[in-house]
Amino acid sequence: MLVVMQAHATEEQVREVCRRIESYGFKAHPIPGAVRTAIGITGNNGAVDIGTLESLPGVAECIPVSKPYKLVSREAKEEDSVIRVPAPAGDVLIGGQAIVLVAGPCAIESEAQAMAIAEPIAKAGVHLFRGGAYKPRTSPYSFQGMGEPALKILAKVRERFGLGIVTEALDHESLDLVEHYADVIQIGARNMQNFSLLKRAGRSRKPVLLKRGMSATLDEFLMAAEYILSEGNYNVILCERGVRTFADHSRNTLDLTIIPAVKKRSHLPILVDPSHGTGVRHKVLPLSRAAIAVGADGLLIEVHHQPDKALSDGAQSILPEEFLQLIEEIRPIAGIVHRSVN
Ligand code: PEP
Ligand code: MN
Repeated sequence: MLVVMQAHATEEQVREVCRRIESYGFKAHPIPGAVRTAIGITGNNGAVDIGTLESLPGVAECIPVSKPYKLVSREAKEEDSVIRVPAPAGDVLIGGQAIVLVAGPCAIESEAQAMAIAEPIAKAGVHLFRGGAYKPRTSPYSFQGMGEPALKILAKVRERFGLGIVTEALDHESLDLVEHYADVIQIGARNMQNFSLLKRAGRSRKPVLLKRGMSATLDEFLMAAEYILSEGNYNVILCERGVRTFADHSRNTLDLTIIPAVKKRSHLPILVDPSHGTGVRHKVLPLSRAAIAVGADGLLIEVHHQPDKALSDGAQSILPEEFLQLIEEIRPIAGIVHRSVN
């Protein structure tokens, strides 16, 4: 259920409606829009007393939400959400007119490695740096990430180059640390339906980058985002990273058809990760071009200065100079879809 306020409703009227909703034992989520505020109601299993709510001052109408997700839906908020990431060199806006690039290695391997990769990325005018401190690996014998020492290296990258930091939390324990060091908390594909972790991320004040599970439907993906919003964190950025199919020419099948589908159903921004989405270096550039053409709000790209020596995902990592070429190749495509790059 959504309570739609009148365009001229006062803040006090919005607060009063929220108080009333909460007095019924439900949770109220005011969602300010460009023209009017909507208030999402969650925690209600049965019907809400529409009559009483509709009679409150400032209320335009109460509308039932037709989708299982409420707060992430376009019904709750018509215009696109622009997620503000406060980074050292200024706020990065995700979901606005400008395409946002997030680049860096799969994993932080050493301070020298992180600095060697961050320097050309920062010089290219990119504002967000990615790099895993905690790695969800298929094999327990594979490199698991350096843990907190990697977060400390990321903090140095942040300080030296002014880059905002995006890094993955695997569990509650690592989320506490990631929340402390990073600017964006990444929840990976394998954790997309780790509901207790989603709820914990929802209680954080930091933006969350939520990657699509490798076999998740669109509804499951949006419901995972709903978990985070329902706990009060509205700063969620979605990320398509490929799904499992019968195709054996690539690690995953990058599902670019989900971009217009998400845009139709949700106000949240969505990035595309063609690195995990293909698993193959030479496919990263063409799929990046396609992602921008189809309406993605940005890209998440794995970059490594020595991909052949990388401790994880070297096969899909591109060189810094290839990344610079990628930026130049997506620029004219962004222009065609009325977006800009830097
Ligand atoms: C990553 O981005 O480093 C990662 C592990 O991705 P995913 O969760 O999409 O596999
Ligand atoms: Mn990786």
